[in-house]
Amino acid sequence: MKQLIVDLDDRSYPIYIGEGILDQISTFFRKHQINDQSPLMIITDDNIAPLYLKKVIVSLQESGYKVCEYIVPAGESSKSLSVLEKITGVALDAGLDRKSSIVALGGGVVGDLAGFVAASFMRGIPFIQIPTTILAHDSSVGGKVAVNHPKAKNIIGAFHQPQMVLYDTSTLRTLPEREIKAGLSELIKHGLIWDAKFAEWNQLNAEKLLALDSESLEYALYNGCKIKAHVVSEDERENGLRAILNFGHTIGHALEAVSQYNKLLHGEAIAIGMVGAAKLSVHLGYPQRIYKETKSVMKKYGLPIQIPNHLNVDEIMEAMLHDKKFSEGQVVFTILKDIGEAHIQRGISIDLIREIVENLRL
Ligand code: NAD
Ligand code: MG
Repeated sequence: MKQLIVDLDDRSYPIYIGEGILDQISTFFRKHQINDQSPLMIITDDNIAPLYLKKVIVSLQESGYKVCEYIVPAGESSKSLSVLEKITGVALDAGLDRKSSIVALGGGVVGDLAGFVAASFMRGIPFIQIPTTILAHDSSVGGKVAVNHPKAKNIIGAFHQPQMVLYDTSTLRTLPEREIKAGLSELIKHGLIWDAKFAEWNQLNAEKLLALDSESLEYALYNGCKIKAHVVSEDERENGLRAILNFGHTIGHALEAVSQYNKLLHGEAIAIGMVGAAKLSVHLGYPQRIYKETKSVMKKYGLPIQIPNHLNVDEIMEAMLHDKKFSEGQVVFTILKDIGEAHIQRGISIDLIREIVENLRL
C-alpha cells in the first residue's frame, strides 16, 4: 500500500492506494477519527452497489458506525440538483447532523455529487472519497465538487476537500474496458504535463496497466495522485498553475460538447485533445518529440487520436470559443514546452487552432 498527503494547511488529507483497502475500511475510519456518534451516509450508484456496497456497510457497522445509504442511477444525469434534493431528504430522515460524514463510493459522478452534498448539507460536513474508477484518481483529489445544470456541466459546485481518499485498486477489475482506457488517459496526461520519467514509464508499461497488474496500477495511480495533489497544493482554487491540468481539455471539451451521438467518453475526448495540443506545441516552436510521443502513447493504450469524421469543424470551433477557458476573448491553451513541462499560452491565433483541428480529423 502507498500513501501520500495532499498538503493544504488545516485542510490537508491522506490518500491511501492499494489492493484490499475495502476490507479494512473501518480501520481507516477509526485511525482518522471519523465520528461514530452521528450516522454516516454512503452514496453510490447502481452499478457499484451490488459489487461493493455491502462490504463497506458491514465493515463500518461491525466497528460500531451507524450507516445509511443512497443509490443513484449510474451516469452523468445523477449529478443534478433534483438528485441532491432527494438525497438531502433521506439524510434528514436518517438523522444526519453537522458531525455526520458523507462517503462517496464510486467514480467521478458519485464523487462529485456526494462531495457537493457534503459541501452543502448544513453548510458543509466532512466527506470521504472511496474511488472505484481509474479516472477517479483525478476527480477524488483536489476538492472540486459539483452537480450539473441543464445548461452547463459542473456549474453548481464548491471547493470542499475530503477527509481522506481510500483507493482500493482491486475494485478496478470490474470496470468495463472502455472505462479503463478512458481513465488511463488522465493518468497519461499527468505524466505529460509534469513528470517526464513517469511519462516514459507510461510508454513502457501500457500492457501491464491495461491488464490491471496490481503493482503497476498502484505505482501509476500513486504518481497520478501525487502530481494532481502537488498542483492542487500550489493552487487550490485555480488562480494559476492548476490550469495546466487542462492539457488536452480545450479541444477535448469541445469534442464532448458536439458528439451528441456515439458519445465520446471524457478520457477519449481529451486523448484526441492532447494529440492536438501536442501538435500545437510543435507549431509554436517546441520539440517535435512532444507530438511524436503524445501520439504514440495514446496509440499504445488504444485511445483515439483522431476526430471522428461525422463531427463538424465549425461546430467544434464554436464550442471551443464558448468554453470558460477562453477568458476575456483570449484563446488560452495548455501546451507542452517539452514532455513533462506544461505551459499556459495566451493569444494563440484562431486560424492556427482551426488548422490543427482540421488536421486531427480522420
Ligand atoms: P462514472 O462515475 O460515471 O463511472 C463510469 C462508469 O463505471 C459508471 O457506469 C459506473 O457505474 C461504473 N463503475 C464505477 N466503478 C466501477 C467498478 N469498480 N466496477 C464496475 N463499474 C464501475 O465516471 P468517471 O469516469 O469515474 O467520472 C466522470 C465524472 O468525473 C464526470 O462527471 C466528471 O465531470 C467528473 N470529474 C471531476 C473532476 C473533479 O476534479 N472533481 C475531475 C475529473 C472528472
Ligand atoms: Mg478531465
